[in-house]
Amino acid sequence: MARRFYQVARSLIEANRSPTMKTLDLRGSADLLCVNMMCEKVGEACICRLSRVLEKNGTELRSLCLADNNICAFWT
Ligand SMILES: [Zn+2]
Repeated sequence: MARRFYQVARSLIEANRSPTMKTLDLRGSADLLCVNMMCEKVGEACICRLSRVLEKNGTELRSLCLADNNICAFWT
């Protein structure tokens, strides 16, 4: 039987469908490219999409990988 939800999500699309995901692996992912015109980071790597997904489906999350995404400016 196919599992309905991902325990390990590897994209924001998977994460969106995975309310019980334990691990989110966005290593080198294009998903972090910001498309929000209201955001100062539009066109760059940004966490606004990620934060929306985690607000919805992040309750079970134990591991988050954001390596290789050019995100050095996230928390400045
Ligand atoms: Zn943004």
